Amino acid sequence: MRLILLGPPGSGKGTQGDLLVGRYGLPRISTGDMLREAASEGSELGIKAKQYMDAGELVPDELVFGIVRERLSRVDAGNGFFLDGFPRNTAQAEELDVVFAEIGHEIEAAVLLDVPREEVLRRLTGRRMCPVCHTAYHMVYHQPANDCVCDHDGAKLSQRDDDSEEVVSERLRVYEEQTKPLVDYYKSRGILVKIDGTGPVEEIFDRITKAL
Ligand code: AMP
Repeated sequence: MRLILLGPPGSGKGTQGDLLVGRYGLPRISTGDMLREAASEGSELGIKAKQYMDAGELVPDELVFGIVRERLSRVDAGNGFFLDGFPRNTAQAEELDVVFAEIGHEIEAAVLLDVPREEVLRRLTGRRMCPVCHTAYHMVYHQPANDCVCDHDGAKLSQRDDDSEEVVSERLRVYEEQTKPLVDYYKSRGILVKIDGTGPVEEIFDRITKAL
């Protein structure tokens, strides 16, 4: 199974991607997670990428292509994967087509999580993450059992640098301008699967698995 998860920031790609991992045993490949990891390690790529991420802009394609190609070539991606956060613009979608042609596979579906802007804003600004295991919480909808620490490892939860209100509105602008055109790109190829991304997490997951 080779899927793309599409949708605005905060639409639940990471959450649903993790549920898909649990169900199908294939990796979720998140360019955002890989770039954040590179930034926290302080690698040359990470330092460059962080400037764009902190501003809510897209990291330049040439920096992202390298990490995506490397990740897709690893053994665990051989039987399939869930791409989260890539492609983000038309150039990336075209690059992905080239990679797929090289590996001799097709993208089976682009799953669009459809969530209204107001809901996305609410979700992102209340979001907190575990810096250790990357579990996502929400200060209203999905609170940790103990104040501000992760249920799994007790690490102190933090807000992503780019989840502040100002950066979130820039990320949404960038989504509308650069990523949303991919909805038509995949629709015209007959592989777009549009899912109502509102409501309880388990119900959304159910909609996805039924549609697939
Ligand atoms: P995400 O975790 O997917 O919301 O991504 C967080 C940030 O990482 C984005 O706002 C971008 O700055 C950067 N990023 C993630 N994926 C990509 C990508 N495919 N192309 C360019 N920048 C990306």
